[in-house]
Amino acid sequence: MTHHQVLIVGCGTAGLAVAKRLVRESPGLDVAIIEPAETQEIQRLWTMVGSGVVRPEHAQRDRAPTIPDGVIWIHDSVKTLNPGGNSVVTASGENISYDYLVAAPGVQTNWNEVAGLRDSVGKNGVCSIYSHETATATWEVIRNFQQGVALFTQPAGMLKCMTCSQQMCYLADEEFRRRGVRDQTRMIFISGESQLFPIQQYCGLLEKVMVEKGIEAHFRTELIEIRPETKEAVFRNVDSGEVSTLRFDMLHVPPPMGPLDIFANSLLADQNGWIDVDRHTLQHVRFPNVFGIGDAANLPTIRSEAASEHQAPVLVSNLVALMERRPLTAKYDGFTGRPIVTGYGQLLRADFDYGKLPCAGSVVELRNLTQPPKPPEKPAD
Ligand SMILES: Cc1cc2nc3c(=O)[nH]c(=O)nc-3n(C[C@H](O)[C@H](O)[C@H](O)COP(=O)(O)OP(=O)(O)OC[C@H]3O[C@@H](n4cnc5c(N)ncnc54)[C@H](O)[C@@H]3O)c2cc1C
Repeated sequence: MTHHQVLIVGCGTAGLAVAKRLVRESPGLDVAIIEPAETQEIQRLWTMVGSGVVRPEHAQRDRAPTIPDGVIWIHDSVKTLNPGGNSVVTASGENISYDYLVAAPGVQTNWNEVAGLRDSVGKNGVCSIYSHETATATWEVIRNFQQGVALFTQPAGMLKCMTCSQQMCYLADEEFRRRGVRDQTRMIFISGESQLFPIQQYCGLLEKVMVEKGIEAHFRTELIEIRPETKEAVFRNVDSGEVSTLRFDMLHVPPPMGPLDIFANSLLADQNGWIDVDRHTLQHVRFPNVFGIGDAANLPTIRSEAASEHQAPVLVSNLVALMERRPLTAKYDGFTGRPIVTGYGQLLRADFDYGKLPCAGSVVELRNLTQPPKPPEKPAD
């Protein structure tokens, strides 16, 4: 059994932000981070890879140089959590105990929840920007598209970067116009949600963008099956249960997502499987020496890198306060930031907090970028 004062699970955006701040604010602390992946995925760039703006290799970097000095990197993954005994067991069978645990394992992508998705993604016009490999294949599909039906779906419920499929729809529209194939194309966005965005001010603007671009939008309708041989997508209406089928020539699909099984089946989970933390202090509601952060925590805000980065200072401040037996006074206000790309040179910056209103001082308008990225004339190969 090895022991660390602070053990962080997951070295994604959230875990890394906590590790960096913790060693800066409390030098000398024994901090270890468990993370199995050798490379760090820069997930926010997958949208840009899928639209041909960023080369795939730029959306990944070596993990080792990103680990801050003073933090021990354990190349392993957590297999069992034992919060009552202040320990975890890793996949390689190591038993690690801790004084304080920071849980930042992100979400699980459930490709198998849509029948036929796992086997067809990257083939037959089916694509997804929700992994490094499939993001690369997405640009291939878009840049080779000639005519027909272009479908973009969004599952109901929790999704990291919930507007990604919508953004791909806007970017594909522009690329199709640039190549002169838009007139031969029917573009359809189909979402399991009730609207384009949960905050009214931003939603209204996005609805206008959809109308101006001539994209059909349908809601409360979920993709349940892909039949790659016949290029058919099968949908179910969330309210009536009615099933319908649509033929497609290209189909962009975010996989359904949920909590990681290891965490959902642990004592750290709430009734939905997410890490059960106080929404302001980020301290676990039943295990005071445990904190949760990022996509895996049950915070009622939209999951984003920006949200994780706003949570990290609060978590570290409260963790240090707990160690020093002071009250936990730092409070996360639910801030999340969503830059929603509506074209190659235009975006909507949707920032809001638990009040579900645009943050004070934010301007609710579409912004034209001064140096818009352009789709490449040549493929990003
Ligand atoms: C396509 C796409 C576009 C996005 N665009 C934006 C954007 O423009 N702006 C924005 O703010 N956000 C964006 N996001 C969201 C953002 O990337 C996530 O919200 C953010 O990465 C969440 O950080 P996290 O640390 O909670 O999870 P992650 O960054 O996913 O990290 C979780 C880490 O935990 C590790 N892990 C998992 N299981 C275990 C285990 N059992 N043991 C140990 N380690 C484990 C994983 O390997 C991973 O490294 C985007 C996401 C996607 C997918």
